[in-house]
This record gives sequence, structure tokens and C-alpha cells, in this order.
Amino acid sequence: MPEPVPYLDLKAQLQPLRAELEAAFARTLDHCSFCLGPDVAQFEKDFAAFIGTQHCVGVNSGTSALHIALLLLNVGPGDEVITTPFTFVATSWAISYVGARPVYVDIDDNTFNLDPHLLEQAITPRTKALLPVHLYGHPCDLDPILAVARKHNLPLVEDTAQAHAAKYKGRTVGTFGQISCFSFYPGKNLGACGEGGALLTNDAALAQRARALREHGSTVRYYHDEVGYNYRMEGIQGAALGVKLKHLARWTEGRQSVARRYHELLADTPLQLPVESARVESAYHLYVVRHPKRDDLMKYLQAHQVGCALHYPLPLHLQKCYASLGYQPGDFPVAERAARECLSLPIYPELTQAQIERVSEVIHDYFRG
Ligand SMILES: *Cc1c(COP(=O)(O)O)cnc(C)c1O
Repeated sequence: MPEPVPYLDLKAQLQPLRAELEAAFARTLDHCSFCLGPDVAQFEKDFAAFIGTQHCVGVNSGTSALHIALLLLNVGPGDEVITTPFTFVATSWAISYVGARPVYVDIDDNTFNLDPHLLEQAITPRTKALLPVHLYGHPCDLDPILAVARKHNLPLVEDTAQAHAAKYKGRTVGTFGQISCFSFYPGKNLGACGEGGALLTNDAALAQRARALREHGSTVRYYHDEVGYNYRMEGIQGAALGVKLKHLARWTEGRQSVARRYHELLADTPLQLPVESARVESAYHLYVVRHPKRDDLMKYLQAHQVGCALHYPLPLHLQKCYASLGYQPGDFPVAERAARECLSLPIYPELTQAQIERVSEVIHDYFRG
């Protein structure tokens, strides 16, 4: 029997870092700054430098970062935020948390990202921000999005939860919007040993207010200038992220090289493979192929112990929690078809050549019938 290929293998990533992580955790146990503290402060500095922004505010999840972003832009009840229906639901949660309405725009059939051509017609007098997602690690087409943002004087928030170190025209994503929001959920390209997230910006005033919002709305302890949240990043997570950040550039190259190998091996199959537009460098958080018989192929892969997953099986406008928005099936046909046809194959830097070849072999077997 060939070895199973797991969809995700965090152990393979963490094992070689074990000694380094334990040493970092031991330092946290010595100083006992468990909520924020020096480990988080150091990571914030290093991550801001890595991405290329002035400020990084560490929080307890990507969802919290998105929530704070919309609070910083004073988005509230009666307002609209334009985003994509084809993303992890947390993108939309932030809009709901501030009492605003998510306004969805259909996606591009090739990149699965918000289609910039459809953006302008979705703008109304109530629109307060644009919130595109660099889905699967592939940067959005930022030039036309930024052009619309400038023309209508709308702030851009980048959901960079899946796109650590991805580049658009040579520049790292997360530096284009007023604010960008990262997730360090363990399975993300840079993952904590638990939950984590960060909000990045070049605006010192926004960063300062974000620091207050994540800590009960206070800058002076027990004095609360506005209603805040307990969204602090934990010291242990800052320590883990500090260790792992040093490997992120290498890991990103590793993901890109797995993607290149899949491209070569799967080019002669009926699958539609991910496209990487000439202007971008994808961070390949996911390697997503598509085929009309997706469900059948998925069963076959699973039966042959090749891990795979769906990102995402139901677009947000059709989720039960958003029934009150009044969207109908057929409103975003490109996203709906993508939801039926997309299949995520295993991709991580530790994936071996033999594992990649095994995935390809099982896919070829499936199509040979
Ligand atoms: C993971 C993710 C989030 C949320 O991040 P958490 O850290 O899990 O809260 C938001 N948006 C996208 C696109 C994501 O993939």
C-alpha cells in the first residue's frame, strides 16, 4: 500500500522547530508576560518589517483583526462594505459585528478573487469600505480595485489571512490598503501554536486606536475612552510566531515549488489548474483545482488515502446566517459554480516529491477510469 498523503501535516512542520519553540516558550514562562508583553512586541516589529508596513498590532485572531479594522474606519449600522461571497465566513463576520451590511460582488472565474469589473456598480452612497480577499494566497487584481477606491474615496482593507508573503507587481500584499488583516491560525502559511492575528497599517493614529481597542479600549489602565474588546495576542503565541517567522520566506518558496510540480504533473489531466497571473506571486496557501465531477473525484482521492478539502462548499450569500440579506441562488453564478467545482489538494512546504507524485498518480488513475 502506498503511504497516505495527509491534507495537512502540522507535525512535519513543527517537529524540526521543536527545540527552538521550547526554548522560546521557556523564556515566556520565565518572564510570565502571557498577554501581550515582550514576545508579542518583538514579533509585531519583525512582522511589520517583513511585510513592509510601519505598524503591526497583534491580536488574538484574524477575525478580531478584521473586526478592529472596520471599527477603525467607523463603519456601523446602515453602512455597507463590499466584499466577496467566496471566502471564509470570517471576512463577512467583521461586517456583521459592526452592524453593517455585507454587499457581495461576484468573483473572477480564473483567480476566484473579487472581480474588479463588477466593483463599481456595487457602490452606493452607503458604501463605507472595500474588503477584498487574496483568496488561496493569490493576490487580487489590486490596480483596478485601488482605482475604484480612489475615485470613490473609499478605504481599502485587505483580508490577507491566506496571503502571507504573496506579491502583486513585486510588492508584498498587505501594504496596499489602509489596513490589512492577517490570521495566524495554525493551518495558515504562518501559524501560531493556537489562535492569533494581526492588523497592519502605515497610519500611526489607526495603529494607536487599534492598540486601545484590542485592550478594553484603554491606553491608561482602568480608563476606557471607548468600548473595547479583549483581543490581545498571547505572549506564548508571540513567542511561537517569532520563531516561525524566520522560516516563512523559505516555506513560501517551498509552497511555490510544490505548486510548480503539480502544474507539471497535472497539466495533461482534464482538471483546471490554478492560474497565476503574470503580475503576481501567489503564496499558495491552497492549491485548488476544479472539475465538474468534483464530488466524485474527491471520493476517489479519499478512498485512496489522498487528503483533500473544499474551500468553500457554500458561498456566503447562500448561508443560512445571511438569509436575511435577501440574496438568491443565481445571484453570483461564478462563485456558485466555483463552490461546486473546486477541490483543494495537499500543499505544504514539507510535502515530499513522492507524496506529490502519489497525488498526481491517483488523479491520473481516476481519469483513466
Ligand atoms: C482564516 C481566515 C480568516 C479568519 O482568521 P482566524 O484567525 O481564523 O480568525 C479570515 N479570512 C480569511 C480569508 C481566512 O482564511
